[in-house]
Amino acid sequence: MSLLTQFDRYPLTFGPTPIERLPRLSDAIGGSVEIWAKRDDCNSGLAMGGNKLRKLEYIVPDAIKSGADTLVSIGGVQSNHTRQVAAVAAKIGMKCVVIQEAWVPHDDVVYDRVGNIMLTRLMGADSRLVDDGFDIGIRQSWQDAIQSVERTGGKPYPIPAGASVHKYGALGYIGFAEEVAKQEADLGFTFDYVVVCVVTGSTQAGMIVGFAAQDRADRVIGIDASGTPDQTRAQVRKIVDGTADLVGLGRLVRDDEIVIKTDYAYPAYGIPSDETNDAIRLAARTEAMIIDPVYEGKSMQGLIDLTRKGFFAEGSRVLYAHLGGAPALNGYGYTYRNG
Ligand SMILES: *Cc1c(COP(=O)(O)O)cnc(C)c1O
Repeated sequence: MSLLTQFDRYPLTFGPTPIERLPRLSDAIGGSVEIWAKRDDCNSGLAMGGNKLRKLEYIVPDAIKSGADTLVSIGGVQSNHTRQVAAVAAKIGMKCVVIQEAWVPHDDVVYDRVGNIMLTRLMGADSRLVDDGFDIGIRQSWQDAIQSVERTGGKPYPIPAGASVHKYGALGYIGFAEEVAKQEADLGFTFDYVVVCVVTGSTQAGMIVGFAAQDRADRVIGIDASGTPDQTRAQVRKIVDGTADLVGLGRLVRDDEIVIKTDYAYPAYGIPSDETNDAIRLAARTEAMIIDPVYEGKSMQGLIDLTRKGFFAEGSRVLYAHLGGAPALNGYGYTYRNG
């Protein structure tokens, strides 16, 4: 039975996302495991989709109920999250204020003009650039934005970074876990591992609670892309506990069920290493699967490295959660000028 039956969901996505096999990528990294991808990057027609829309489906009913007229959120300059919040605001007819902080020390000349931030502006959001550095916590600039909406007579609905530290932020990825179980029944097998990028935490936290109900949360392998793994792990722990309680999981999730690999976020959040770029090129050249330098490139780098190191038992089926993010590539035109 679903853990989500008692919660309202406002549909923003097409429905269950496709799962596809990646045979050429599997072969290219040694052929010892079967790599599959669940394509949450293709989950919606709203401004190119992505994982935040799956989360926002469970937040929008609360926003509408609150009587708010403005969604207020926060992210980096090339934030996928603020793009998806802007999309939702346009779709449901609300205004939108998004704070875009200087989270990434990156100086591509068009960085603040293309990709996510361009789409955000196109959709009519009031996008405000702020000069503060990376932090997944609650931010002064966001509090200021909320107050600025109130001062001008609006009614803000605050959505924290990544929609993570929100009461309902992890419900969408409980849905992911339940969806995978249904798809496995059709496929006739179960996956041995799920690999997922983690930064603000509610994507993996939702998966952990959802898969804990199937007693296999320890098979969710988080790949940290924040570069501040202690803070990310603490945030995942907190969201897991709050969400398990909220949905009535009925037991405490153990520490060993929260698996986060911390070896791949270097040199910093938003900056790809040579190995990240190799992973991005390999996915593109073997499967035409486009992944970004901030998030999915790092989780793919982790998947490739863990496979080569023999972390996954021979013959395992590994499900890579593709969470979106390709629009950010436009901010890295110089990095990939030769492919
Ligand atoms: C936000 C995001 C993530 C990280 O998800 P969290 O829930 O913040 O941990 C990963 N990949 C993409 C493309 C994202 O936009």
